[in-house]
Amino acid sequence: MTTKTYKTVTFKGGVHPSKDGKALTREVTIQEAPLLNEYKVIVQQNIGAPPKVLVKKGDEVKKGQMIAEAGGFVSVPLHAPTSGKIKIIDRIPGPMGVPTEAIIITADGKDEWGELMDPIDWKNADGATLKKRICDAGVVGMGGAAFPSHVKLSPPPDKKIDYLILNGAECEPYLTADHRLMLEETEKVLEGAAILGHALGVKNVFIGIETNKEDAIHALLEKCENYGVGVVGLKVQYPQGAEKQLIYAVTGRKVPAGKLPMDAGCVVQNVGTAAAVTDAVKEGKPLIDRITTVTGEPIKNPSNWRFRLGTPVSKAIELAGGITKEPGKIILGGPMMGFAQKSMEVTVMKNTSGILLLEKSDVIQYQSTACIRCGRCLSACPMNLLPGSLSAAIESEKFDLAAKMNVMDCIECGSCAYICPAHRPLVQHFRRAKAEIRNRSKK
Ligand code: SF4
Ligand code: SF4
Repeated sequence: MTTKTYKTVTFKGGVHPSKDGKALTREVTIQEAPLLNEYKVIVQQNIGAPPKVLVKKGDEVKKGQMIAEAGGFVSVPLHAPTSGKIKIIDRIPGPMGVPTEAIIITADGKDEWGELMDPIDWKNADGATLKKRICDAGVVGMGGAAFPSHVKLSPPPDKKIDYLILNGAECEPYLTADHRLMLEETEKVLEGAAILGHALGVKNVFIGIETNKEDAIHALLEKCENYGVGVVGLKVQYPQGAEKQLIYAVTGRKVPAGKLPMDAGCVVQNVGTAAAVTDAVKEGKPLIDRITTVTGEPIKNPSNWRFRLGTPVSKAIELAGGITKEPGKIILGGPMMGFAQKSMEVTVMKNTSGILLLEKSDVIQYQSTACIRCGRCLSACPMNLLPGSLSAAIESEKFDLAAKMNVMDCIECGSCAYICPAHRPLVQHFRRAKAEIRNRSKK
Protein backbone atom coordinates (compact mmCIF):
# COMPACT_ATOMS: atom_id res chain seq x y z
CA MET A 1 0.00 0.00 0.00
CA THR A 2 1.32 3.45 -0.90
CA THR A 3 2.25 5.91 1.84
CA LYS A 4 0.91 8.82 -0.21
CA THR A 5 -1.63 10.93 1.63
CA TYR A 6 -4.85 12.55 0.43
CA LYS A 7 -7.21 15.16 1.78
CA THR A 8 -10.74 14.32 2.93
CA VAL A 9 -13.64 16.65 2.17
CA THR A 10 -17.43 16.66 2.39
CA PHE A 11 -20.67 18.68 1.98
CA LYS A 12 -23.31 20.06 4.31
CA GLY A 13 -26.33 17.93 5.25
CA GLY A 14 -26.93 14.28 4.39
CA VAL A 15 -27.39 11.23 6.58
CA HIS A 16 -25.55 8.12 7.74
CA PRO A 17 -27.69 5.09 6.89
CA SER A 18 -27.46 2.77 9.91
CA LYS A 19 -26.88 -0.39 7.85
CA ASP A 20 -24.34 -0.08 5.06
CA GLY A 21 -24.27 -3.75 4.03
CA LYS A 22 -21.05 -3.32 2.07
CA ALA A 23 -19.20 -5.98 4.08
CA LEU A 24 -21.26 -8.60 2.21
CA THR A 25 -19.40 -7.98 -1.06
CA ARG A 26 -16.53 -5.52 -0.64
CA GLU A 27 -13.92 -8.30 -0.57
CA VAL A 28 -15.54 -10.35 -3.36
CA THR A 29 -13.62 -10.07 -6.64
CA ILE A 30 -15.50 -9.48 -9.88
CA GLN A 31 -16.61 -12.68 -11.62
CA GLU A 32 -17.30 -13.02 -15.34
CA ALA A 33 -20.87 -14.27 -15.86
CA PRO A 34 -21.01 -17.31 -18.18
CA LEU A 35 -22.53 -16.98 -21.63
CA LEU A 36 -26.33 -17.40 -21.51
CA ASN A 37 -28.59 -18.92 -24.14
CA GLU A 38 -30.63 -15.75 -24.41
CA TYR A 39 -30.34 -12.00 -23.74
CA LYS A 40 -33.30 -9.62 -23.50
CA VAL A 41 -31.81 -6.24 -24.31
CA ILE A 42 -34.09 -3.35 -23.32
CA VAL A 43 -33.98 -0.74 -26.10
CA GLN A 44 -34.19 2.45 -24.03
CA GLN A 45 -31.20 2.31 -21.73
CA ASN A 46 -30.37 6.00 -21.87
CA ILE A 47 -32.02 9.21 -20.73
CA GLY A 48 -33.27 11.17 -23.74
CA ALA A 49 -34.57 9.91 -27.06
CA PRO A 50 -34.98 6.12 -27.35
CA PRO A 51 -32.62 4.44 -29.84
CA LYS A 52 -34.19 3.23 -33.12
CA VAL A 53 -34.14 -0.53 -33.62
CA LEU A 54 -32.12 -1.60 -36.70
CA VAL A 55 -32.72 -5.37 -36.62
CA LYS A 56 -35.70 -7.65 -37.14
CA LYS A 57 -36.72 -11.17 -36.24
CA GLY A 58 -34.43 -13.76 -37.82
CA ASP A 59 -31.44 -11.44 -38.39
CA GLU A 60 -28.00 -12.82 -37.51
CA VAL A 61 -25.90 -10.50 -35.35
CA LYS A 62 -22.32 -10.44 -34.14
CA LYS A 63 -21.16 -9.47 -30.67
CA GLY A 64 -20.80 -5.69 -30.47
CA GLN A 65 -22.88 -5.07 -33.62
CA MET A 66 -25.11 -2.00 -33.47
CA ILE A 67 -28.70 -3.23 -33.06
CA ALA A 68 -30.30 0.17 -32.46
CA GLU A 69 -29.04 3.61 -33.55
CA ALA A 70 -29.11 6.82 -31.52
CA GLY A 71 -32.53 8.47 -31.72
CA GLY A 72 -31.15 12.04 -31.58
CA PHE A 73 -28.33 14.05 -30.02
CA VAL A 74 -29.39 13.12 -26.49
CA SER A 75 -29.33 9.39 -27.22
CA VAL A 76 -26.81 6.62 -27.86
CA PRO A 77 -26.75 3.44 -29.96
CA LEU A 78 -27.18 -0.03 -28.49
CA HIS A 79 -25.03 -3.08 -29.32
CA ALA A 80 -25.49 -6.86 -29.23
CA PRO A 81 -24.04 -8.49 -26.08
CA THR A 82 -23.15 -11.67 -27.99
CA SER A 83 -23.41 -13.25 -31.45
CA GLY A 84 -26.60 -15.06 -32.41
CA LYS A 85 -30.02 -14.59 -33.97
CA ILE A 86 -32.78 -12.08 -33.23
CA LYS A 87 -35.56 -14.22 -31.75
CA ILE A 88 -38.13 -11.46 -31.53
CA ILE A 89 -38.62 -7.76 -30.75
CA ASP A 90 -41.01 -7.89 -27.84
CA ARG A 91 -42.16 -6.08 -24.72
CA ILE A 92 -40.78 -7.28 -21.39
CA PRO A 93 -41.08 -5.95 -17.81
CA GLY A 94 -39.15 -2.67 -17.58
CA PRO A 95 -37.36 -1.24 -14.55
CA MET A 96 -40.12 1.33 -13.96
CA GLY A 97 -42.79 -1.37 -13.70
CA VAL A 98 -44.24 -0.94 -17.21
CA PRO A 99 -43.66 -3.20 -20.23
CA THR A 100 -40.87 -1.91 -22.41
CA GLU A 101 -39.47 -2.75 -25.86
CA ALA A 102 -36.63 -5.27 -25.88
CA ILE A 103 -34.53 -7.03 -28.53
CA ILE A 104 -34.34 -10.72 -27.66
CA ILE A 105 -31.23 -12.50 -28.93
CA THR A 106 -30.73 -16.26 -29.00
CA ALA A 107 -27.00 -16.80 -28.51
CA ASP A 108 -25.23 -19.03 -31.04
CA GLY A 109 -22.61 -20.01 -28.43
CA LYS A 110 -19.72 -18.72 -30.58
CA ASP A 111 -19.62 -15.30 -28.92
CA GLU A 112 -17.98 -13.88 -32.07
CA TRP A 113 -17.13 -10.19 -32.20
CA GLY A 114 -18.20 -8.24 -35.25
CA GLU A 115 -15.87 -5.62 -36.68
CA LEU A 116 -14.53 -3.42 -33.88
CA MET A 117 -13.98 0.30 -34.31
CA ASP A 118 -10.37 1.41 -34.91
CA PRO A 119 -8.35 2.16 -31.77
CA ILE A 120 -7.73 5.88 -31.24
CA ASP A 121 -4.38 7.36 -30.21
CA TRP A 122 -6.25 9.61 -27.80
CA LYS A 123 -3.35 11.82 -26.74
CA ASN A 124 -3.11 13.02 -30.35
CA ALA A 125 -6.86 13.06 -31.03
CA ASP A 126 -9.11 16.12 -30.83
CA GLY A 127 -12.10 16.45 -28.51
CA ALA A 128 -14.66 16.02 -31.32
CA THR A 129 -13.15 12.66 -32.36
CA LEU A 130 -13.22 11.38 -28.79
CA LYS A 131 -16.80 12.57 -28.14
CA LYS A 132 -17.98 10.91 -31.35
CA ARG A 133 -16.31 7.64 -30.34
CA ILE A 134 -17.84 7.80 -26.84
CA CYS A 135 -21.26 8.29 -28.43
CA ASP A 136 -20.73 5.58 -31.08
CA ALA A 137 -19.80 3.11 -28.33
CA GLY A 138 -23.11 3.77 -26.57
CA VAL A 139 -21.52 5.10 -23.36
CA VAL A 140 -23.84 6.59 -20.73
CA GLY A 141 -23.56 7.52 -17.06
CA MET A 142 -23.18 4.13 -15.41
CA GLY A 143 -23.68 5.29 -11.83
CA GLY A 144 -27.43 5.22 -12.33
CA ALA A 145 -28.38 8.29 -14.36
CA ALA A 146 -27.75 6.76 -17.83
CA PHE A 147 -27.32 10.23 -19.32
CA PRO A 148 -25.41 10.05 -22.64
CA SER A 149 -21.78 10.80 -21.76
CA HIS A 150 -20.93 12.64 -25.00
CA VAL A 151 -23.65 15.21 -24.22
CA LYS A 152 -22.10 16.00 -20.84
CA LEU A 153 -18.80 16.46 -22.66
CA SER A 154 -20.34 19.02 -25.03
CA PRO A 155 -21.19 22.14 -22.98
CA PRO A 156 -22.18 25.29 -24.91
CA PRO A 157 -19.17 27.46 -25.90
CA ASP A 158 -20.00 30.09 -23.27
CA LYS A 159 -19.66 27.57 -20.42
CA LYS A 160 -16.01 27.27 -19.48
CA ILE A 161 -15.27 23.93 -17.82
CA ASP A 162 -12.43 23.95 -15.25
CA TYR A 163 -12.91 20.61 -13.53
CA LEU A 164 -13.69 17.03 -14.47
CA ILE A 165 -14.63 14.98 -11.41
CA LEU A 166 -14.97 11.22 -11.50
CA ASN A 167 -17.53 9.93 -9.06
CA GLY A 168 -16.11 6.99 -7.13
CA ALA A 169 -18.07 7.80 -3.98
CA GLU A 170 -20.45 4.84 -4.22
CA CYS A 171 -22.31 6.23 -1.21
CA GLU A 172 -25.37 3.97 -1.58
CA PRO A 173 -25.39 1.23 1.07
CA TYR A 174 -24.74 -2.35 -0.09
CA LEU A 175 -23.18 -1.48 -3.48
CA THR A 176 -19.51 -2.30 -4.08
CA ALA A 177 -19.33 -2.61 -7.89
CA ASP A 178 -17.44 0.69 -8.33
CA HIS A 179 -15.21 -0.15 -5.37
CA ARG A 180 -14.15 -3.44 -6.96
CA LEU A 181 -13.74 -1.82 -10.37
CA MET A 182 -11.39 0.86 -8.99
CA LEU A 183 -9.41 -1.81 -7.18
CA GLU A 184 -9.25 -4.41 -9.93
CA GLU A 185 -9.14 -2.19 -13.02
CA THR A 186 -7.34 0.80 -11.54
CA GLU A 187 -5.43 1.86 -14.65
CA LYS A 188 -8.46 1.49 -16.91
CA VAL A 189 -10.37 3.90 -14.68
CA LEU A 190 -7.44 6.34 -14.51
CA GLU A 191 -6.87 6.27 -18.25
CA GLY A 192 -10.59 6.83 -18.82
CA ALA A 193 -10.36 9.87 -16.54
CA ALA A 194 -7.42 11.17 -18.57
CA ILE A 195 -9.27 10.57 -21.88
CA LEU A 196 -12.39 12.36 -20.61
CA GLY A 197 -10.25 15.26 -19.37
CA HIS A 198 -8.53 15.44 -22.78
CA ALA A 199 -11.90 15.38 -24.60
CA LEU A 200 -13.05 18.31 -22.45
CA GLY A 201 -9.74 20.17 -22.67
CA VAL A 202 -9.56 20.24 -18.86
CA LYS A 203 -6.39 19.94 -16.76
CA ASN A 204 -8.02 19.60 -13.32
CA VAL A 205 -9.14 15.98 -13.18
CA PHE A 206 -10.02 14.41 -9.83
CA ILE A 207 -11.51 11.16 -8.59
CA GLY A 208 -13.59 11.49 -5.41
CA ILE A 209 -13.90 8.34 -3.26
CA GLU A 210 -15.49 7.77 0.13
CA THR A 211 -12.87 6.85 2.72
CA ASN A 212 -14.52 3.50 3.44
CA LYS A 213 -12.69 2.29 0.28
CA GLU A 214 -9.18 2.85 1.61
CA ASP A 215 -7.69 0.03 -0.52
CA ALA A 216 -9.10 1.54 -3.73
CA ILE A 217 -7.88 5.02 -2.75
CA HIS A 218 -4.35 3.70 -2.28
CA ALA A 219 -4.46 1.69 -5.51
CA LEU A 220 -5.40 4.86 -7.39
CA LEU A 221 -2.87 7.02 -5.52
CA GLU A 222 -0.13 4.60 -6.55
CA LYS A 223 -0.71 5.23 -10.27
CA CYS A 224 -2.63 8.48 -10.57
CA GLU A 225 0.35 10.75 -11.28
CA ASN A 226 1.05 8.81 -14.49
CA TYR A 227 -2.33 9.96 -15.79
CA GLY A 228 -2.41 13.52 -14.39
CA VAL A 229 -5.34 12.66 -12.13
CA GLY A 230 -5.79 13.69 -8.48
CA VAL A 231 -7.45 11.55 -5.80
CA VAL A 232 -9.69 13.15 -3.15
CA GLY A 233 -11.07 11.32 -0.10
CA LEU A 234 -14.73 11.94 0.70
CA LYS A 235 -16.22 11.63 4.18
CA VAL A 236 -18.63 8.69 4.40
CA GLN A 237 -21.91 10.53 4.21
CA TYR A 238 -24.97 9.96 2.02
CA PRO A 239 -25.52 11.37 -0.72
CA GLN A 240 -21.83 12.11 -1.17
CA GLY A 241 -21.98 10.90 -4.79
CA ALA A 242 -24.76 13.26 -5.88
CA GLU A 243 -23.30 15.63 -8.48
CA LYS A 244 -23.80 18.92 -6.69
CA GLN A 245 -22.56 17.56 -3.37
CA LEU A 246 -19.52 15.99 -5.02
CA ILE A 247 -18.68 19.25 -6.81
CA TYR A 248 -18.90 21.22 -3.57
CA ALA A 249 -16.81 18.69 -1.66
CA VAL A 250 -14.04 18.54 -4.28
CA THR A 251 -13.91 22.15 -5.55
CA GLY A 252 -15.78 24.25 -2.97
CA ARG A 253 -17.98 25.52 -5.83
CA LYS A 254 -21.75 25.68 -5.45
CA VAL A 255 -24.02 24.87 -8.38
CA PRO A 256 -26.67 27.64 -8.28
CA ALA A 257 -30.33 26.66 -7.70
CA GLY A 258 -31.95 25.44 -10.91
CA LYS A 259 -28.59 25.20 -12.70
CA LEU A 260 -26.34 22.39 -13.90
CA PRO A 261 -22.78 21.36 -12.95
CA MET A 262 -21.47 23.13 -16.08
CA ASP A 263 -22.79 26.41 -14.61
CA ALA A 264 -20.18 25.90 -11.89
CA GLY A 265 -17.52 25.00 -14.49
CA CYS A 266 -17.65 21.28 -13.69
CA VAL A 267 -18.45 17.99 -15.41
CA VAL A 268 -19.04 14.83 -13.37
CA GLN A 269 -18.72 11.28 -14.74
CA ASN A 270 -18.88 7.93 -12.98
CA VAL A 271 -15.82 5.66 -12.62
CA GLY A 272 -17.60 2.85 -14.50
CA THR A 273 -18.21 5.28 -17.35
CA ALA A 274 -14.50 6.09 -17.41
CA ALA A 275 -13.61 2.39 -17.73
CA ALA A 276 -16.12 2.04 -20.60
CA VAL A 277 -14.55 5.07 -22.30
CA THR A 278 -11.10 3.44 -22.16
CA ASP A 279 -12.50 0.29 -23.83
CA ALA A 280 -14.26 2.36 -26.48
CA VAL A 281 -11.30 4.59 -27.33
CA LYS A 282 -8.32 2.23 -26.96
CA GLU A 283 -9.91 -1.01 -28.11
CA GLY A 284 -12.85 0.17 -30.20
CA LYS A 285 -15.26 -1.85 -28.05
CA PRO A 286 -18.84 -0.70 -27.54
CA LEU A 287 -20.52 -0.89 -24.13
CA ILE A 288 -22.10 -4.35 -23.89
CA ASP A 289 -21.57 -5.26 -20.25
CA ARG A 290 -21.05 -3.77 -16.81
CA ILE A 291 -20.10 -4.60 -13.20
CA THR A 292 -23.09 -5.18 -10.92
CA THR A 293 -23.31 -6.08 -7.23
CA VAL A 294 -25.80 -8.86 -6.45
CA THR A 295 -26.40 -8.62 -2.75
CA GLY A 296 -28.60 -8.52 0.33
CA GLU A 297 -29.14 -10.93 3.23
CA PRO A 298 -31.49 -13.26 1.28
CA ILE A 299 -28.79 -13.91 -1.38
CA LYS A 300 -26.75 -17.08 -0.76
CA ASN A 301 -23.44 -15.76 -2.17
CA PRO A 302 -23.49 -11.95 -2.37
CA SER A 303 -21.00 -11.09 -5.12
CA ASN A 304 -19.84 -8.76 -7.89
CA TRP A 305 -20.31 -9.74 -11.52
CA ARG A 306 -19.60 -8.60 -15.02
CA PHE A 307 -23.00 -9.11 -16.65
CA ARG A 308 -23.85 -8.56 -20.28
CA LEU A 309 -26.72 -6.21 -21.07
CA GLY A 310 -29.95 -8.19 -21.24
CA THR A 311 -29.12 -10.67 -18.46
CA PRO A 312 -32.36 -11.40 -16.54
CA VAL A 313 -32.29 -10.47 -12.84
CA SER A 314 -33.55 -14.01 -12.10
CA LYS A 315 -30.42 -15.43 -13.79
CA ALA A 316 -28.13 -12.97 -11.97
CA ILE A 317 -29.60 -14.12 -8.64
CA GLU A 318 -29.19 -17.77 -9.66
CA LEU A 319 -25.51 -17.16 -10.46
CA ALA A 320 -25.09 -15.67 -6.98
CA GLY A 321 -26.29 -18.94 -5.49
CA GLY A 322 -30.01 -18.16 -5.39
CA ILE A 323 -31.93 -17.11 -2.31
CA THR A 324 -31.92 -18.61 1.15
CA LYS A 325 -35.10 -16.86 2.33
CA GLU A 326 -38.01 -15.02 0.77
CA PRO A 327 -36.99 -11.37 0.14
CA GLY A 328 -39.16 -8.47 1.31
CA LYS A 329 -38.14 -6.33 -1.66
CA ILE A 330 -36.09 -6.54 -4.89
CA ILE A 331 -34.37 -3.31 -5.87
CA LEU A 332 -32.37 -2.32 -8.95
CA GLY A 333 -29.64 -0.02 -7.59
CA GLY A 334 -29.15 0.82 -3.94
CA PRO A 335 -31.70 1.02 -1.10
CA MET A 336 -31.81 4.85 -1.04
CA MET A 337 -32.30 5.75 -4.72
CA GLY A 338 -32.89 2.41 -6.43
CA PHE A 339 -36.16 1.21 -7.94
CA ALA A 340 -38.24 -1.57 -6.39
CA GLN A 341 -39.11 -4.32 -8.86
CA LYS A 342 -42.23 -6.43 -9.19
CA SER A 343 -40.70 -8.87 -11.67
CA MET A 344 -37.43 -10.83 -11.67
CA GLU A 345 -37.61 -10.87 -15.48
CA VAL A 346 -36.40 -7.29 -15.76
CA THR A 347 -32.87 -7.37 -17.26
CA VAL A 348 -29.48 -5.79 -16.58
CA MET A 349 -29.07 -2.41 -18.27
CA LYS A 350 -26.19 0.05 -18.65
CA ASN A 351 -27.07 1.68 -15.31
CA THR A 352 -27.75 -1.44 -13.22
CA SER A 353 -25.20 -0.88 -10.46
CA GLY A 354 -26.84 -3.34 -8.09
CA ILE A 355 -29.44 -6.06 -7.66
CA LEU A 356 -30.41 -5.84 -4.01
CA LEU A 357 -32.71 -8.18 -2.13
CA LEU A 358 -33.82 -6.86 1.25
CA GLU A 359 -35.06 -9.02 4.10
CA LYS A 360 -38.71 -8.81 5.06
CA SER A 361 -37.67 -7.39 8.46
CA ASP A 362 -35.89 -4.50 6.67
CA VAL A 363 -39.01 -3.56 4.75
CA ILE A 364 -41.25 -2.43 7.56
CA GLN A 365 -44.29 -0.48 6.35
CA TYR A 366 -44.49 2.46 8.75
CA GLN A 367 -47.70 4.38 9.21
CA SER A 368 -47.16 8.02 8.26
CA THR A 369 -48.27 10.54 10.93
CA ALA A 370 -48.54 14.34 11.06
CA CYS A 371 -45.39 16.46 10.81
CA ILE A 372 -44.16 17.32 14.32
CA ARG A 373 -41.99 20.20 13.03
CA CYS A 374 -38.84 18.71 14.49
CA GLY A 375 -36.68 20.22 11.74
CA ARG A 376 -34.58 17.09 11.22
CA CYS A 377 -35.36 16.99 7.50
CA LEU A 378 -34.08 20.54 7.19
CA SER A 379 -30.67 19.64 8.62
CA ALA A 380 -30.46 16.49 6.49
CA CYS A 381 -31.30 18.10 3.14
CA PRO A 382 -28.08 18.50 1.13
CA MET A 383 -29.85 20.94 -1.21
CA ASN A 384 -30.80 23.39 1.55
CA LEU A 385 -34.51 22.88 0.89
CA LEU A 386 -37.28 22.91 3.50
CA PRO A 387 -38.66 19.39 3.05
CA GLY A 388 -41.33 19.64 5.78
CA SER A 389 -42.76 22.95 4.52
CA LEU A 390 -42.48 21.82 0.90
CA SER A 391 -44.40 18.66 1.67
CA ALA A 392 -47.15 20.68 3.41
CA ALA A 393 -47.44 22.97 0.36
CA ILE A 394 -47.72 19.99 -1.98
CA GLU A 395 -50.35 18.28 0.19
CA SER A 396 -52.39 21.49 -0.15
CA GLU A 397 -51.84 21.35 -3.95
CA LYS A 398 -49.88 24.62 -3.83
CA PHE A 399 -47.57 23.71 -6.67
CA ASP A 400 -46.65 27.32 -7.51
CA LEU A 401 -45.45 27.76 -3.96
CA ALA A 402 -43.55 24.48 -4.16
CA ALA A 403 -41.86 25.73 -7.34
CA LYS A 404 -40.91 29.00 -5.59
CA MET A 405 -39.45 26.89 -2.78
CA ASN A 406 -37.19 25.22 -5.39
CA VAL A 407 -38.73 21.75 -5.32
CA MET A 408 -37.20 21.25 -8.79
CA ASP A 409 -33.77 21.28 -7.11
CA CYS A 410 -34.67 18.23 -5.05
CA ILE A 411 -32.32 15.41 -6.08
CA GLU A 412 -34.67 12.78 -4.61
CA CYS A 413 -31.89 11.46 -2.39
CA GLY A 414 -34.37 10.42 0.33
CA SER A 415 -32.24 11.79 3.21
CA CYS A 416 -35.23 13.75 4.58
CA ALA A 417 -37.57 10.75 4.47
CA TYR A 418 -34.91 8.53 6.02
CA ILE A 419 -34.54 10.82 9.04
CA CYS A 420 -38.22 11.80 9.46
CA PRO A 421 -39.64 10.44 12.76
CA ALA A 422 -43.19 10.85 11.42
CA HIS A 423 -42.35 8.66 8.37
CA ARG A 424 -43.74 11.29 6.01
CA PRO A 425 -43.75 10.15 2.35
CA LEU A 426 -41.63 13.19 1.45
CA VAL A 427 -39.90 11.93 -1.70
CA GLN A 428 -43.22 10.75 -3.19
CA HIS A 429 -44.58 14.27 -2.62
CA PHE A 430 -41.59 15.88 -4.29
CA ARG A 431 -41.74 13.53 -7.29
CA ARG A 432 -45.42 14.29 -7.69
CA ALA A 433 -44.85 18.05 -7.50
CA LYS A 434 -41.97 17.95 -9.97
CA ALA A 435 -44.07 15.97 -12.48
CA GLU A 436 -46.98 18.42 -12.03
CA ILE A 437 -44.75 21.48 -12.49
CA ARG A 438 -43.14 19.96 -15.60
CA ASN A 439 -46.57 19.19 -17.07
CA ARG A 440 -47.80 22.73 -16.41
CA SER A 441 -44.74 24.23 -18.09
CA LYS A 442 -45.49 22.21 -21.25
CA LYS A 443 -49.02 23.63 -21.56
S1 SF4 B 1 -35.83 17.44 -0.14
FE1 SF4 B 1 -34.98 16.25 -1.84
S2 SF4 B 1 -32.82 16.77 -1.86
FE2 SF4 B 1 -33.61 17.39 0.14
S3 SF4 B 1 -33.23 15.62 1.46
FE3 SF4 B 1 -35.30 15.40 0.66
S4 SF4 B 1 -35.08 14.11 -1.15
FE4 SF4 B 1 -33.01 14.89 -0.65
S1 SF4 C 1 -38.44 15.46 9.72
FE1 SF4 C 1 -40.59 14.89 9.36
S2 SF4 C 1 -41.64 15.46 11.23
FE2 SF4 C 1 -39.65 16.51 11.29
S3 SF4 C 1 -40.08 18.53 10.32
FE3 SF4 C 1 -39.42 17.17 8.69
S4 SF4 C 1 -41.32 16.35 7.83
FE4 SF4 C 1 -41.83 17.19 9.85
